[in-house]
Amino acid sequence: MRKKFSIDLSHRVKDLPPYLFAAIDKMKQEAVRKGVDLIDLSIGDPDIPTPKHIVQKMKKAVENPAHHRYPSYEGMLSFRQAVAGWYKKRFNVSLDAKTEVLSLIGSKEGIGHIPLAFINPGDVVLVPSPGYPVYPVATLFAGGKSHIMPLLDKNNYLPDLKAIPKSVLKKAKLMFINYPNNPTSAVAGGNFYKEVIGFAAKNNILVCHDAAYSEIYYDNKKPLSFLQIPGAKDVGIEFHSLSKTYNMTGWRIGFAVGNANALFGLGKIKTNLDSGVFQAIQEASIEALNTGEAVLKNIRDTYQERRDVLYNGLKALGFELQKPGATFYLWTKVPKGFTSSSFVTHLLENAGVLGTPGNGFGAPGEGYIRFALTVSTKRMKEAVERIGKVI
Ligand SMILES: *Cc1c(COP(=O)(O)O)cnc(C)c1O
Repeated sequence: MRKKFSIDLSHRVKDLPPYLFAAIDKMKQEAVRKGVDLIDLSIGDPDIPTPKHIVQKMKKAVENPAHHRYPSYEGMLSFRQAVAGWYKKRFNVSLDAKTEVLSLIGSKEGIGHIPLAFINPGDVVLVPSPGYPVYPVATLFAGGKSHIMPLLDKNNYLPDLKAIPKSVLKKAKLMFINYPNNPTSAVAGGNFYKEVIGFAAKNNILVCHDAAYSEIYYDNKKPLSFLQIPGAKDVGIEFHSLSKTYNMTGWRIGFAVGNANALFGLGKIKTNLDSGVFQAIQEASIEALNTGEAVLKNIRDTYQERRDVLYNGLKALGFELQKPGATFYLWTKVPKGFTSSSFVTHLLENAGVLGTPGNGFGAPGEGYIRFALTVSTKRMKEAVERIGKVI
């Protein structure tokens, strides 16, 4: 008998934290199979299509043979100039398109790769929790150790930098922050960024700010860019994406801007792993970055209407939550007597409404549930009615 061929998974794969959403995915499939009229509020992906003028531009760009060849690693200069122009117009931040803008295959790609450029085994990365699962996983893949910064309601979901022990700070080399925040929907102000910049400069920590939701805001209150605060460019970079702003999650394009040395490091990793973004997508993205305010207002108004229905509805039902100032998420405490998981199961089985359990974003998210505003207002109203009947 020949020995059966088997090859062991690497430690980095074996050490991945358990995928907490797997159980939910299974329950969801089960419900769909049974024919439940499911209202799925668990999806962080816009249900609205990409604006037409962007799709039109893509159709044209795709026919250009110049775009059929390998793109440049760092992105077309015209794309990077469009990003710089957008930053100037939106945030009054000046960027050198050549050295301070880097194209990404979606911001997730850049976030996933940045620790490889700066983290050695044993180095510490400061990671907000609850948070985007890529931060700790990218840290793990680079051999680094995550130090969790809990985001708590009492601190308006901002990390308490003073609570980080000195011994951790000695080994910390990089920190992730994310505002407007997924999953808590919190928005950060200039004072917080100022504190972060002082902290990073003092402790020699590279700040990686994930600003994926900066354009999904409400009540005309525009969130800040981290780079608007003096000194930010000395200590950090900002990740951005066209995904959420222009309903382009499937297109896979984003960018990183800010500190040129940090972008150089990230670029080094990328040139050895990928070959840039399809140029036709970059062309369409230039068009996207020049999108008129009317189109964007329409997108925001759509989410705002849904937010108001869900926020007012849940508030009237006695839920404890803060009104989202940005993002298309709503983060609320689960009712007394439930855990995150048991409440998600309860809603799915008895109301046909699916949310995401807060603990799936990290232990400090236990006791919370996240609802996404990615269904129509009509369905949102129905979701509130259904929830009201089972709590
Ligand atoms: C959606 C999202 C991203 C990235 O999206 P891309 O499509 O990869 O640009 C990054 N961070 C957070 C917090 C997100 O929710």
